[in-house]
Amino acid sequence: MTTSRPHSEQLYAEALQHIVGGVNSPSRSFKAVGGGAPVFMKRAQGAYFYDVDDNRYIDYLCAYGPIITGHAHPHITAAITRAAENGVLYGTPTELEITLAKKLKAAIPSLDKVRFVNSGTEAVMTTIRVARAYTKRNKIIKFAGCYHGHSDLVLVAAGSGPSTLGIPDSAGIPTSIAHEVITVPFNDLEGLKQALERWGDDVAAVMVEPIVGNFGMVMPKPGFLEGLCAMTREAGALVIYDEVITGFRFHYGTSQTFDAFPDHAAIEPDLTALGKIIGGGLPIGAYGGRREVMEQVAPLGPAYQAGTMAGNPASISSGIACLDVLEQPGVYERMDALAAKLANAIKDSADRHGVPLTVNRIRGSFSTHFCAHPVTNYDEAQDTDGEAFAQFFRLMLEQGICLAPSKYEAWFLTTAHTEADIALTIEAADNALRQMAR
Ligand code: PMP
Repeated sequence: MTTSRPHSEQLYAEALQHIVGGVNSPSRSFKAVGGGAPVFMKRAQGAYFYDVDDNRYIDYLCAYGPIITGHAHPHITAAITRAAENGVLYGTPTELEITLAKKLKAAIPSLDKVRFVNSGTEAVMTTIRVARAYTKRNKIIKFAGCYHGHSDLVLVAAGSGPSTLGIPDSAGIPTSIAHEVITVPFNDLEGLKQALERWGDDVAAVMVEPIVGNFGMVMPKPGFLEGLCAMTREAGALVIYDEVITGFRFHYGTSQTFDAFPDHAAIEPDLTALGKIIGGGLPIGAYGGRREVMEQVAPLGPAYQAGTMAGNPASISSGIACLDVLEQPGVYERMDALAAKLANAIKDSADRHGVPLTVNRIRGSFSTHFCAHPVTNYDEAQDTDGEAFAQFFRLMLEQGICLAPSKYEAWFLTTAHTEADIALTIEAADNALRQMAR
């Protein structure tokens, strides 16, 4: 099968006239995979996308993470429909918010209190404000290549080493703000130690994706999170886990209780940021943590955070329904098994065709890095063949397999993917890798 997409091309030309760059989020553009028109989708059902030219694609993009039960899951659709019929926005509290808060607390023991917001960006941004309010300190330490949304403080790149301050990663961010951020390499406890020694007295929080989802899927090395938490607390700073991708992605819970970390039960961050899956595909974010830290937040405390749309009944209903589906027995095991089959087959094909490929898989998601070395930090993820990824991406798209258009993004499985989808994808990947080997 080879897809042809004249209508997408036409719509892209039109979109460029009206929407900046033709897209409402830069990661949707095909800039990183050689440019041209992105695919305009018109419908999605289960594991499939249908584009405006009536091509069908198996979806592994999954909207960058929120989609885990397949598109238009009947239980979620019914919940959203019910919410719409009851009025979509009140500006008052609802019982639904308590239901979702209780579900989150039951799955994430470190949450004494939560607050719902509208996106992962807002959730992360607010955890930083709350940590600063609680510690009365200013600086943040983050890890290179971890993405935490687009608020000023976390759009800051590494300085030249662990003892230097950050530089803005985007125009429009004052250097003074970037100077409040220190960036160290992921999986590098020595770098963190040096940064804390240099800046520790003014560090409000260390922010981390405990399992990285933003330069591929990358596990923390054994002892990294334990060391991070111990050092951070020793310095009097708070630990913030950004679980916007990892929350409910690998099991019913977060990386805080992930059984791939045998000794990690004791690690509880002070604050956690959530988003994506907990809204079942509608806009949502949430943050929460220890009672005395969360009580910094207005109306109880001096740290202000608000939102007209926050906790809206449609997003909350969709989130509750999504978690209902994920709570069923066997759901994660099935995604895990399908992802294992797919990831192993892609790696075998690459080896057979002599294409250097590293596959990092964690349960039902994985990343494909065109390189011969392991990928454990951002430098190693950058040092991979972007042109090979672009070629692979396009060869897959032509065969009706939709991946994220970036070498740094993961493949996500859903409860809707079938053995037949996996078989088709394995065949497509084998074709693509064979062509790449030529
Ligand atoms: N944190 C992480 C770990 C993310 O992956 C993302 C989005 N990809 C965000 C925060 C920001 O979430 P949103 O796009 O909902 O603002």
